[in-house]
Amino acid sequence: MDYRPLKGEDIFKCMECGACCKGFGGTYISEEDIEKISKYINISLEIFLDKYCTMSGSKYVLAQGKDDNCIFYDKEKQCSIHPVKPYMCKAWPFIKTIISNPENWNAMAGSCPGMKKDIEHDILKKIVDSEIKLL
Ligand code: SF4
Ligand code: SF4
Repeated sequence: MDYRPLKGEDIFKCMECGACCKGFGGTYISEEDIEKISKYINISLEIFLDKYCTMSGSKYVLAQGKDDNCIFYDKEKQCSIHPVKPYMCKAWPFIKTIISNPENWNAMAGSCPGMKKDIEHDILKKIVDSEIKLL
């Protein structure tokens, strides 16, 4: 019987390898993320932007720590701000840009072992769209 994946869990399961928190991943943060995270770590927005963020073009992204990982990466907990981590981290890999080009999903799957490769693009689009709505 022909098996067609239908849900996010059919094509992605996080292996908790931490690869997406390593190096300069360019984790974009929205205004809402900035407010939530600064409140969670109990510092002002200004200090948060100055000490924990950097610019990528005109947008804020999370900075890197001394070990070159995301500044909030923790070897034991993996993410020290897990309850308020940025939308992009919560949603991954179900984000709009990943389906904007048929090559994107497989390219990202090359560095994220939780993503299954070679999903038919129209099926992938349906799954990603419905997972985005669930968030
Ligand atoms: S790279 Fe993929 S599998 Fe590894 S922690 Fe990140 S989302 Fe999970
Ligand atoms: S915020 Fe957390 S989940 Fe997101 S990249 Fe940083 S350590 Fe990883």
